[in-house]
Amino acid sequence: MTFDALIIGGGAAGLSCALVLGSAQNKPFTVGKCIGIVTHQKTSHLQTALFNNVLGLKPETLGADILDDGKAQLAALYPHIHQIDKEKVTAIEKQAENYSITTNKNTYHSKIVVIAVGYTNLMTITGLEHYIEPHPRTAIEKDRIWLKNEDHLIEKGLYVAGTLAGWRSQFAMACGSGSHVATDILTLWNNGKHTKIHDKI
Ligand SMILES: Cc1cc2nc3c(=O)[nH]c(=O)nc-3n(C[C@H](O)[C@H](O)[C@H](O)COP(=O)(O)OP(=O)(O)OC[C@H]3O[C@@H](n4cnc5c(N)ncnc54)[C@H](O)[C@@H]3O)c2cc1C
Repeated sequence: MTFDALIIGGGAAGLSCALVLGSAQNKPFTVGKCIGIVTHQKTSHLQTALFNNVLGLKPETLGADILDDGKAQLAALYPHIHQIDKEKVTAIEKQAENYSITTNKNTYHSKIVVIAVGYTNLMTITGLEHYIEPHPRTAIEKDRIWLKNEDHLIEKGLYVAGTLAGWRSQFAMACGSGSHVATDILTLWNNGKHTKIHDKI
């Protein structure tokens, strides 16, 4: 399967990116675009998080519930976004026209890849080694990493979002980072015209 954009990681940044891309479904510049997300959630930092300090979330919201609800929201509102479940990405390779993305079960191709797999130093996706550096905004003893990028862009067609993009670990910042990358991709598809997606009453 060949995607126009494939998001890797079903945590805060990845799901936020997918929701914003999905919400552009009626824009003419997204017609025919094939979008997917590898919704791996086992190692999300949301799994053990409890939220009291996020605007719009009821106090004591569980991160684990956000993970389940996020996938359900994406499936209900934007079913055209392909959710790839129960797969873990093992390699990303740049090819002439696109990227190949290998999981433990399949190989996919995509023109654009968004990496949103979190900032732990256990990241084991081959092909990304030469972008990995110590995280610029965490305590050194935490041993966190980022993928070196400029405004989320690593190189043409390859984006990083969330904590792995260099942001500190706060839920709203990770969601904002994923949304930011989504609007960059939409802007690209809209021939460089700055783009955002709003619903109105
Ligand atoms: C205990 C705890 C409490 C917290 N409390 C708060 C709080 O009170 N307030 C607050 O604002 N923030 C809090 N946070 C921080 C918040 O959870 C993180 O900032 C946020 O989850 C980071 O989002 P992310 O998308 O960068 O990473 P994650 O949410 O960790 O998502 C990364 C995703 O990538 C997936 N993945 C990893 N490897 C692969 C692979 N090879 N292939 C495919 N997918 C992969 C993972 O399974 C995961 O779903 C807390 C975190 C923890 C751990």
